[in-house]
Amino acid sequence: MSLATSAPSFAEPAPSALLLLGRGVDLASERGVECVGGLPAASDPDLVERARVARAALGDRAFVLGHHYQRDEVIAFADVTGDSFKLAREAAARPEAEFVIFCGVHFMAESADILTSDTQQVVLPDLAAGCSMADMAAIDQVEDAWDVLVDAGVAEQTVPVTYMNSTAAIKAFTGRHGGTICTSSNAHVALRWAFDQVGGVEGTGKVLFMPDQHLGRNTAVLELGLSLDDCVVFDPRKPGGGLTKAELEAARMILWRGHCSVHGRFSARNVSDIRAAAPGVTVLVHPECKHEVVTAADMVGSTEYIIKALDAAPAGSTWAIGTELNLVRRLAAAHPDKQIHYLDSTVCFCSTMNRIDLPHLVWAMEQLLAGQTVNRIVVDEDDAHWARVALDQMLALPGY
Ligand code: SF4
Repeated sequence: MSLATSAPSFAEPAPSALLLLGRGVDLASERGVECVGGLPAASDPDLVERARVARAALGDRAFVLGHHYQRDEVIAFADVTGDSFKLAREAAARPEAEFVIFCGVHFMAESADILTSDTQQVVLPDLAAGCSMADMAAIDQVEDAWDVLVDAGVAEQTVPVTYMNSTAAIKAFTGRHGGTICTSSNAHVALRWAFDQVGGVEGTGKVLFMPDQHLGRNTAVLELGLSLDDCVVFDPRKPGGGLTKAELEAARMILWRGHCSVHGRFSARNVSDIRAAAPGVTVLVHPECKHEVVTAADMVGSTEYIIKALDAAPAGSTWAIGTELNLVRRLAAAHPDKQIHYLDSTVCFCSTMNRIDLPHLVWAMEQLLAGQTVNRIVVDEDDAHWARVALDQMLALPGY
C-alpha cells in the first residue's frame, strides 16, 4: 500500500479530532451532548437578550448557580457564585426553586441533587461538563483498591477521606466505610478527625485519600506534620496499586493517583520566573497544586481563601495567583489598585468547566420554559443516602 492511500486525508478527520459540541457527531465519545430542539449559535446576536428573557420568565422557579471557574458570560446570569460545596448548600437553602441550574461540572450537580429536596430538579446545561480529577477515580477501581487494603490486612486501620471533587458513587463508598468528605478549606480538620478514628496522627492508622493526591499530600505534610515518606501513591491501573504489602503497612497516607489537570500544570519554575519578573510579588496558590509548587509559594488556600486574601490585600501590592484563569481574570478586574499576575505563562482554563457556555444556558432555560427538563442530574437513592452520611460527617467536623 502506498503512503498516499494509507495516510488519513484532511476530509476524513482522525478518530481523535476535536468534535463539535451539540452536533450529535459522536454521542458515545461526547457523552450525551445532544441538545433537544437545537442549541442556539454562539454567534446569535440575540443570545444575551434571549438569556435575559428566559431568566426573567423562569423567575423564582429557577435558581442559577455559577462556580468561580465559569466564563464571564455565564457568571453574568448566576444568582450566586461560589465553590462547589457553597453552591450545593445555597441550592438546598432555596426549596422554593423548582429548578436548580448548575453552571459547574457533573460532580457538583450530583452534590446539589443529594442536598436538595426530591421536588427540586438539578440541571447541568451541558452533560459533557465533567471533571478530569473526579473521572480519575471510578467506583469499581475504588472497590478493587479497598480489596487490596483488606488483603494486605490494613483496611481495618484505614479511614477514607474523599474530596468534594468526586463522583456521588465515591462519596457513597466513603459513607459506607465510615469516612468523611472534605473541601480544600477543611481538609486538615477532616484528616485530623480521620486519624483520630484509628489512634491519632501520632499512631499507626491510615487514611485513604481520594481522588486528589496533591491536596492529600500537601495537607498531611504541611498541616499535620507527617513526612513525604509517610505518603504512598495508589495507582489504580497497576496490580495492587503498584504497592507492596510492606509499603501499605508502613504508609500513613495512601494517596489516590489523581490530580487536577488545571492546577497540576503549575510548576516550581513558574514561581521562580514570576519572582524574577516581579520583585516583591506574593505567590498564592491552590492546594491542588503539586507539593513543590505549594512549598515554593508564599501562601496556599482554597478559592474562597484566595478571594478573601485579595480583598484584604493593600493597594499597590503585587500578587501571582495559581488557580483557574477565569477566576484570576475576574479578580484582576475587581482589584485595579493591585497588580495581579497569573502564575502560569500559558493560558490555563478548566476546559470542562468551559463547556458550559451561554448557548447551553439559554438552551436549558428555554427548554424548561417549554415544559421540558433537559440534562437532569439524578443520583440513585442508595448512593444519595450514603453520600449524605459522608457529607453529614463533614458538617459535624469540629469547628466546621
Ligand atoms: S479545575 Fe480541576 S478539579 Fe476543578 S473541575 Fe476543572 S479539572 Fe476538575
